[in-house]
Amino acid sequence: MLFLLVSGAAVPHTVAAAVLEGEHCSIEFDNADRESAELVRGFVDGSWDEVARSVGADTQIAPVRVKIAGSLAQFREFAGGHDERWIVGLASGSGSLIVLKPPRLVRDPLKSFRQTVRHELTHIMLSRASNLQNMPRWLNEGIAMRVSGEMTKTSEWIIGRAVLRRAVIPLDELDERFPAAHERASLAYAESLKAVNYIVDNYGDEALLKLIRSLRDEDFDTALAATIGLDIHTLSGRWVKSVRKSPYVVTLIAGSFSLWLMTVVAIVAFLRKRKLARRKRWEWEMEELLGDDL
Ligand SMILES: [Zn+2]
Repeated sequence: MLFLLVSGAAVPHTVAAAVLEGEHCSIEFDNADRESAELVRGFVDGSWDEVARSVGADTQIAPVRVKIAGSLAQFREFAGGHDERWIVGLASGSGSLIVLKPPRLVRDPLKSFRQTVRHELTHIMLSRASNLQNMPRWLNEGIAMRVSGEMTKTSEWIIGRAVLRRAVIPLDELDERFPAAHERASLAYAESLKAVNYIVDNYGDEALLKLIRSLRDEDFDTALAATIGLDIHTLSGRWVKSVRKSPYVVTLIAGSFSLWLMTVVAIVAFLRKRKLARRKRWEWEMEELLGDDL
């Protein structure tokens, strides 16, 4: 999930218990994770050409080294300052190393191991097809999520809630670092995916590939203007407008209005019932008083 802008040499090296060689990967793992290593080899080799084509990378590029962390402590060692529990994978900025938590160390059973591998592999391919120093973090993550098929539905709801709460994070605030807290980080990832989808939906796959290529030699503002003719603030504004019109957001707004209406109706009904009950009690009291007089 996380992409570390560090060189491969900066990542500490530990002696792995076993190594599994694939056509495009070399996987280091502890013996407890042999099954996971076999899965990773299948995912990397099986996805290699498709992921490379998705980002315009050469399919003949050098193999990738994959390290499956044997423990959470070992993963933290590789993750440097990042020890958030929700992080399940890392890719080095040098484009040569992927570090993964095996499924047995991932608490959330919904996390898909295959999607995580494709996500990190996309980061590796992007680092080879483009210049990540010129690529904003939201674009890098959004492409990885689009290629891996992550959060396709949940992102709609996450962003829908953020729109209702006026909590959408402007894209230009997601240039380098994402929020550390899980909820805000999820929103940052969801926004990244939606922004990339917005570019593809409105300007086509070729525009995204051209943008990735342009970033090899140009800064982001220049590459974006040359590719789709917009600056980041205009793109961000149009994207947020499009999000507000999405069926999920409309449903959420309608749901909120319905809930608000139901609450008002319930309060009015309660007040009316209480008023009638008071009147009844008063009538009973009157009857009792009258009865006493009789
Ligand atoms: Zn990532």
